[in-house]
Amino acid sequence: MTGLIVVLNGGSSSLKFSIYQMTGETDLELSIKGQMEGIGTAPRFIAKDRDGKVLGERQWADASSADRVFLFGYLAGWATGQIKDSEVVGAGHRVVHGGTDFSAPALIDNALMSAVEKLVPLAPLHLPHNLAYIKAAQSMNPELPQVACFDTAFHRGHPEVAERFALPEELYGAGVRRYGFHGLSYEYIAQELQRVAPEIAEGRVVVAHLGSGASMCAIKGGRSIDSTMGFSALDGLPMGTRCGALDPAVPLYLIAEKGYDVPALERLFYHDSGMLGLSGVSNDMRDLEASEDPRAKLALDYFVYRINRELGALAAAMGGLDAVVFTAGIGERSPETRARVCADAGWLGLHLDEAANQAGGPRISTAESAVSAWVIPTDEEKMIALHTQRLLRGL
Ligand code: ADP
Repeated sequence: MTGLIVVLNGGSSSLKFSIYQMTGETDLELSIKGQMEGIGTAPRFIAKDRDGKVLGERQWADASSADRVFLFGYLAGWATGQIKDSEVVGAGHRVVHGGTDFSAPALIDNALMSAVEKLVPLAPLHLPHNLAYIKAAQSMNPELPQVACFDTAFHRGHPEVAERFALPEELYGAGVRRYGFHGLSYEYIAQELQRVAPEIAEGRVVVAHLGSGASMCAIKGGRSIDSTMGFSALDGLPMGTRCGALDPAVPLYLIAEKGYDVPALERLFYHDSGMLGLSGVSNDMRDLEASEDPRAKLALDYFVYRINRELGALAAAMGGLDAVVFTAGIGERSPETRARVCADAGWLGLHLDEAANQAGGPRISTAESAVSAWVIPTDEEKMIALHTQRLLRGL
């Protein structure tokens, strides 16, 4: 099987894309990776080859001359010029929410689109953008097979106690339950464990996906059994600008006493909280690590403290712990965060190898450590491409 697979990961202000060359029945090679950022404000486009060489770059001075449809058209035109004689045989999309219906990636057809449209109220800030890019790609090439890869799918099959809130049953039936997110990243890591660390791949592993969005997942025998994110991608760990776990009485109080409405709460919990809210300095770990401001130190302390609380909780959910895996921007590139988390996890029998940690792993625990620690880079786009390739083979 040959040809190209295009992967699209469309958010509210960015569109990440990758183009993979199929090199066999199950093998893929990255050809081009890039993104549009600042959509809606000051759009910027950059694309690189697999070695990081810049292939294309462009900026637009203002948003009015470059809306989402225009930018998608620009990207498609640019990519068509790059790939020359090769044929695009399929497209894979990251779709943030698959509700209870989708426990695996699926070929996109009208029925799937209607089912996903119904899920928009569960992820109103993200799903409409995912759907818009699917429709844009469909209108550009109606015959192209397209695949939806759901960020919740890997978590379907959690035990009921992990999926429930202690709310009346009719709300559970109405979809008020803990879904879990970052599933494509965790699925990729679970797959990579078979290759990088087969000795723990079937064991009890906590994966910490620490990026601008952050969550942790308990993976037992290669399957997700619980996650720190729940009904939405707000729950669990504090993130760049998202608050993480919060007592539900807080929004009640803000509504009753402080005049907050839904848009104001949304702004507070998604954009003004987390590391930015705590520090008042930045949402970016690099700025916080470099800052002398005591509030930046508090934000870092809080981040590590909450990671360790969740680590203990997820280890308890699995009845023990064999390994911890760090991944995503902070997990892969902040030895300081990893060292602090591992130091606090000494009680679990985790002992850091400082030199290996500074070198970036993959194994960063000592040989004697009862619980091993690892750094494994995630690749959600590759996971999407692999799923797309698999579904194309079945056509
Ligand atoms: P996204 O969730 O947007 O895909 P990433 O996984 O790329 O995010 O993670 C982005 C975050 O990673 C940044 O906000 C920054 O805090 C952090 N980061 C990136 N590089 C470093 C670094 N060298 N040291 C510490 N933190 C880093």
